[in-house]
Amino acid sequence: DGVFLNEAGQPCRVMVLVNPHSGKGRALALYNGPIQRMLSEALVPHTLIVTGEHTHAHTRTQGRRKLNDGPPLVCAERRNHARELVREADLSQWDALVIISGDGLLYEVINGLLERDDWEQAIHTPLGILPGGSGNALAASIHHYSGAPPVSSEELLLSCGFMLCKGLVSRMDLVSVRLGSGQRIFSFLSLAWGFVADVDVESEKYRHVGAARFTVGTLVRLASLRVYRGRLSYLPAPAEGDDDDNAKGKEIPDDSRQDSLTGPVDSLLPPADEPVPTDWVVVPEEEFVLTLAIYQSRLAEDLLAAPAATLDQGLIHLMYVKAGISRASLLQMFLAMEKGTHLTICSPHLVYRRVWALRLEPYAPQGLITVDGEAVEYGPVQAQVHRGLARMIAG
Ligand code: ADP
Ligand code: MG
Repeated sequence: DGVFLNEAGQPCRVMVLVNPHSGKGRALALYNGPIQRMLSEALVPHTLIVTGEHTHAHTRTQGRRKLNDGPPLVCAERRNHARELVREADLSQWDALVIISGDGLLYEVINGLLERDDWEQAIHTPLGILPGGSGNALAASIHHYSGAPPVSSEELLLSCGFMLCKGLVSRMDLVSVRLGSGQRIFSFLSLAWGFVADVDVESEKYRHVGAARFTVGTLVRLASLRVYRGRLSYLPAPAEGDDDDNAKGKEIPDDSRQDSLTGPVDSLLPPADEPVPTDWVVVPEEEFVLTLAIYQSRLAEDLLAAPAATLDQGLIHLMYVKAGISRASLLQMFLAMEKGTHLTICSPHLVYRRVWALRLEPYAPQGLITVDGEAVEYGPVQAQVHRGLARMIAG
């Protein structure tokens, strides 16, 4: 009947997290305008938390009923506020966590959930995302999976708002990323090195132009195109339609790797100091213009980087562009990506593989690697997919 109910048939208690600095700095205005109206129309009782604010949570309730009389939530500061909050929260109080921001705030929330001792339960908390940032790739991907044609930023917000009010929960893949220091982070969108990572980070200063920041960043980077040297290896996934579609046979029997980390075991990843197993492929080229592992369809609102991706297919779509591509061809590739036709234009420089795991070893001592658009520790990384680990309000 359109009401957002939990398993017990009660209206859901939703934690709404807003990053006031994301995108053009209008996320809070979006909440105060259309989003709050939608949530109250749909009778979704929720508590608003503005990241970086010292004041305790603002409680929005339905009618006169006050649904959150608990102690005020203790707030840390700015970046990682949401991560810490979610790591410590009493999750039995919340039926869903909804983010109004770009991809960066969801990245914090997912990592916070997987850092908990009760991670296995915690990561089952339904998550929602409303595009309030400049990089709204997941929101745009979820809209894309609904089959609707691409839309502008405001329409995307409404589309995601409707999906949120419908409250249908689906599984979503996560990718575990092991950094050189042994630290592990979880990713729902992308792992990038080279051109795309540089644009992710350099375009932060164009955040005020909203989603167009990636177009601006791409053009700027094209002017100073460069080559990135390193070794790339991957564990290929079986071809589409192949029966052998589970990774059991590829598991490396060694649980000592897990050390004291919370979260699922990365059973496909070899120890970082050992060569990759023989069923992995080591890419013969060592000079790249870009390396991009993506697990949802859109890299940005207007970039359909992995047209075949779905929310929980258990695959990493790995793309790399070999050195030697001309600026004109690279530009053409990014233009084609707006419609998702870049993979069919058959550039001899662009390689696309469906994989379950990968290893990247950059040679230069300094550089940039991004995960879900956020810069992470630079150096060798390994990653593997964990099918359907998270739950997302979508469709
Ligand atoms: P955008 O799409 O505009 O990049 P994000 O949601 O990705 O928006 O957020 C950008 C960055 O801001 C992320 O790294 C996130 O961790 C960080 N962040 C979250 N809350 C705050 C805050 N209150 N102040 C500053 N930075 C924040
Ligand atoms: Mg971001």
